[in-house]
Amino acid sequence: RSNAEKFEFQAEVSRLMDILVNSLYSNKDIFLRELISNASDALDKIRFLSLTDKEVLGEGDAAKLEIQIKLDKEKKILSLRDKGIGMTREDLVKNLGTIAKSGTSAFVEKVQSSGDLNLIGQFGVGFYSVYLVADYVEVISKHNDDKQYVWESKADGAFAISEDTWNEPLGRGTEIRLHLRDEAQEYLEEYKLKELVKTYSEFINFPISIWASKEVDVEVPADEDDSGDEEETTDKTSSEEGEDEDAEKGEDEDTEKKPKKKTVKETTYEWELLNDVKAIWLRSPKDATDEEYIKFYHSLAKEFSADKPMAWSHFTAEGDVEFKAVLYVPPKAPHNLYDSYYKAKSNLKLYVRRVFISDEFDELLPKFLSFLKGIVDSDTLPLNVSREMLQAHSSLKTIKKKLIRKALDMIRKIAEEDPDESSGKDEKEVEKSVDDDDDEKKGQYTKFWNEFGKSIKLGIIEDASNRNRLSKLLRFESTKSDGKLTSLDKYISRMKSGQKDIFYITGTSKEQLEKSPFLERLKKKNYEVIFFTDPVDEYLMQYLMDYEGKQFQNVSKEGLKIGKDKKNKELKESFKKLTKWWKGALTTDKVDEVKISNRLDNTPCVVVTSKFGWSANMERIMQAQTL
Ligand code: ADP
Ligand code: MG
Repeated sequence: RSNAEKFEFQAEVSRLMDILVNSLYSNKDIFLRELISNASDALDKIRFLSLTDKEVLGEGDAAKLEIQIKLDKEKKILSLRDKGIGMTREDLVKNLGTIAKSGTSAFVEKVQSSGDLNLIGQFGVGFYSVYLVADYVEVISKHNDDKQYVWESKADGAFAISEDTWNEPLGRGTEIRLHLRDEAQEYLEEYKLKELVKTYSEFINFPISIWASKEVDVEVPADEDDSGDEEETTDKTSSEEGEDEDAEKGEDEDTEKKPKKKTVKETTYEWELLNDVKAIWLRSPKDATDEEYIKFYHSLAKEFSADKPMAWSHFTAEGDVEFKAVLYVPPKAPHNLYDSYYKAKSNLKLYVRRVFISDEFDELLPKFLSFLKGIVDSDTLPLNVSREMLQAHSSLKTIKKKLIRKALDMIRKIAEEDPDESSGKDEKEVEKSVDDDDDEKKGQYTKFWNEFGKSIKLGIIEDASNRNRLSKLLRFESTKSDGKLTSLDKYISRMKSGQKDIFYITGTSKEQLEKSPFLERLKKKNYEVIFFTDPVDEYLMQYLMDYEGKQFQNVSKEGLKIGKDKKNKELKESFKKLTKWWKGALTTDKVDEVKISNRLDNTPCVVVTSKFGWSANMERIMQAQTL
């Protein structure tokens, strides 16, 4: 091409493409899902722009927001066209090759360790999956702000972009042409494509059609000049002579004077719609099956694994602010959930009256719930305003509040339905019923806690209004939890009579804490002490002051009261000389006080933190952070 400009792929992208080209991965079908998902995203974008500016859609065919698939068996090309937003020349350069996304190298690593390509879409590099089945790919694209261009690459480290002067004008949108490899010819079979589109696009909100062949009976006039010799004319097109004879006979009988007609078989092509555009969230929860919710999750999360979401909640909010929502707890935390916590984007898709608005609306959920996935569709929000105006809309606060409530309910239910959670609580309850459902739910809350427990802790720190609800979801180990997780409610149920405070200790590991001299006396007297071993726990305990009317007491800090100790006063008196001498011996900037302790058993003395000071563990954490 004379006007082509060549570019090199960014190094990581090039590596990824090499891996894909040479992959022996058997599930190559995934490329179609990625292409459909990109087409759907592009359609969402133009539809969103059209809310404030009708003009962007154009007229006639281009205004129809749809996805079309065509197969060319002779040229071995599978093409997929969308009437979405399209890409400018600059978009093509950036989006398809020169800018590596953060997920690129993460995905390369993942593939090299597991060989599994299925999650490619989650890492933001789904487009390149086309090279699983094609050795040459053309992307023809027309954006409203630019001319039509062709991007092309044979996955040889480079791609080219040319102004398109030879293809049919697209109007607007993108057409991807895959020149299929010899071993991928199955993707030229209509039935195969239909089947794949049906599985992969069940929840795509735009019509998807395929240019499908059809055998039809057509009536053609018998040649008038040559009415005596009908057989010759039918022979050209008919495939079944017997049937034609019948048709002719019938016609002979009742159309003596009319011009003669006959029926022949012909292969015609027409667009065949493959999906019915239905939104699961608009249906009644009673009518949707578990399987449908799971499938919807997979398409929403671009997470096509065998893993099921841990829980979901589908509900309608009524009143001043109306909306419908489906929320999910994913089966696993994403690879970088806590690395960039404060930058994390919400994973909720916001729709207003069935129109997709954005999946980057941070106003819908607080940071600590950003691990949830789902959709919200509101009839109360205005449709034809800018994103900024929508972001500032007062209804969002109400929506957010309700979403948090529902989310916490959903998480609480994981615990309630988990048979492991009730064990040790009440013998009778454990006996209740053990069916298949229980089997599936067994251990689910521990799983949840291991994946997302930190989010609950961050929630306690960040959200004062839900602190109590979140505290109920807290799990930890303790001197009495026997290696399992336990909760504050269970702790309280085990408290000794006369015990006022909830005891805890912080440190780097349970093993280290178990040996702590701070626990000696408490253990001997059979008091339970919570182990907090995550660095975030130190911060957590600055916010979690009390629970159900009980104060928290760090057992390594000043002020520990273990029941009533009568002897204490006498001891204090008789050792007064010693403590006085000792305090004098240590210069005052080293210790505040020297006291008789009630927490030790074998260890003669211990250094305790003052009530409002940092614990030794906190000192350690702070030091690690400044280093
Ligand atoms: P992701 O979809 O996660 O962003 P992809 O690798 O699938 O990652 O696509 C990369 C980018 O290429 C998209 O973000 C989008 O900007 C652009 N793109 C891909 N396909 C299309 C399309 N059909 N129409 C418009 N833009 C597209
Ligand atoms: Mg994509």
